[in-house]
Amino acid sequence: MKELTQLKKVVSHPYAYIRKYKKQTGKKVVGYCCSYAPEEIIWAAGALPVRLFGTNENIHLADTHLQSYCCSLVRGILEEALDKRLDFVDGIIFPHTCDSFQRLSDIWRLNIPEQFHLDVVLPVKLDTPSAKKYMAAILEKCRKDLGKALGKDITQAMLARSVKTYNKIRSLAGKLYELRCANPQIISGTDFHAVIKAAMIMDRDQYLKILTQIVKQLQKAKPRKTRDEAKRLVLSGSVCTHPDIYGIIEDAGGVVVWDDLCTGYRYFEGQMNEKIAPLKAITARYLKRVICPAKHMELRGRGENLIRLVKQSKAQGVVFLLLKFCDPHAFDYPYLKEMLEAEKIPFMLLDMEAELPPVGQLQTRFETFIQIL
Ligand code: SF4
Ligand code: SF4
Repeated sequence: MKELTQLKKVVSHPYAYIRKYKKQTGKKVVGYCCSYAPEEIIWAAGALPVRLFGTNENIHLADTHLQSYCCSLVRGILEEALDKRLDFVDGIIFPHTCDSFQRLSDIWRLNIPEQFHLDVVLPVKLDTPSAKKYMAAILEKCRKDLGKALGKDITQAMLARSVKTYNKIRSLAGKLYELRCANPQIISGTDFHAVIKAAMIMDRDQYLKILTQIVKQLQKAKPRKTRDEAKRLVLSGSVCTHPDIYGIIEDAGGVVVWDDLCTGYRYFEGQMNEKIAPLKAITARYLKRVICPAKHMELRGRGENLIRLVKQSKAQGVVFLLLKFCDPHAFDYPYLKEMLEAEKIPFMLLDMEAELPPVGQLQTRFETFIQIL
């Protein structure tokens, strides 16, 4: 499928794509690192929102600023910035989430002065009566600050257009998840990962067109024979930037049918109401969306959501992907584990760095888990 090839090319060489795009369109690029960054406002301003995933190679510059107990995602992103590999980024937005990102924001502001820098200090508790009002005020501040930094007045009409685009992308991504869940052989895990990741990099209008074509073609595709023995799994955790994980799981006799990742379904989840003021609609989505553990809302909400995802996707087990030194997710793990045990849902924990353990070792671990399912 030529559309898929296009997306895979972007994902394999994202910086080449962004540099070319910038040259051709003259648009500004705004970087962000977390799914709580209000991308809709960036896109409304006519800039390209680009999620930064960092590097896992030769981290040495970042080590002079960060303690060794910082997660590899934060280290890898800072390394690239200090090494001037992100010179295409005009500005950066940091939503306040985990401690590591908050400290990264401070280090960035002091050491990368050539980019504009915005903090979006979101509420920590999302289910208090004041959270809604406060969140809406913070997003309004973000609209003004970003407009100032980009030299644009971000109007309601621009925001409304952006909300529509994001709604369409998210709705189509949801369809893609459902198609793959019903018939996992329709698109390989690695290709599926490329489609998902491209959503955080590409021109969103261009991405929407390509995604529309991909979903249309997959809807028409004849159901392929599923390998009966393939065990259905849900991935859970923070970020997953490793397309290989999907392939390794498939080689080990499993298949990822859904996820609870902030670089996965959590990124796409939830529609915004197009009949109300756009910032109110963006606020409402954040407050409704299943939270990440760097925020607080309903003590057992994430666990209940995970169990619902397992049941809905008819999964047989859960793989937790835990980045080393990621405290928010590590603190959530014991209670999620207890809830899965109570439901008799098998799970395994993969403690990893930005770089994966050797393939052979990983495959053996997945095979062992899949055999017990
Ligand atoms: S896990 Fe939470 S804090 Fe970390 S990147 Fe994802 S949404 Fe942001
Ligand atoms: S939530 Fe975890 S993985 Fe994400 S930046 Fe914070 S510490 Fe790192």
